Amino acid sequence: MVIQNVAWKSAVSRMDNGGVILTDEELLLAVLNSAPVIDGAVTDELSGGGGSTFALRLGGSGSATEVNQLRRTRAALQAAIRNPAETNVAGLASVLAHAVRTPEVTPAGVSWHVRAAVDDLLAVRLVMAWSDVLEQYPGRLRACANADCNLFLVDHSRPGTAKWCSMATCGNRMKARAYAVRARG
Ligand SMILES: [Zn+2]
Repeated sequence: MVIQNVAWKSAVSRMDNGGVILTDEELLLAVLNSAPVIDGAVTDELSGGGGSTFALRLGGSGSATEVNQLRRTRAALQAAIRNPAETNVAGLASVLAHAVRTPEVTPAGVSWHVRAAVDDLLAVRLVMAWSDVLEQYPGRLRACANADCNLFLVDHSRPGTAKWCSMATCGNRMKARAYAVRARG
């Protein structure tokens, strides 16, 4: 098994992997939102040849095994966010089964190193990012309230009432729809 060793500074939730630096939240949302509905049809950036490019862009290896693993993990996380009671705990645990996180003490504090098989690393990071975002922003990770949309958001609004992936698209569309319903009376 090829092992890749990657520095993971959990405290600042950033990692540096082959020049790609993403926060937990950026990584999580990039993958969760990689199957958007466009013109009424679900597209999937992780399917076909594009999947490899997508994984490479996130700092992965781009292998078919990695893309499959990402697709499975994405499905499990999307379902868990929509309905936490239905979280596929065993499925997510299996992603992390062979990952090891070890601390390294430096004068700047503790950094964490994640070790996992090359093809597992991105999915491992994804599950850890999901967990870190849940911990950092309790109740703020949610699916867009537009049932026809397949995107997710982390709500950073002060009152915590954000419902849409984007005000410009789903927010305005849903408001217009609600207005049309009211106008019809
Ligand atoms: Zn939306």
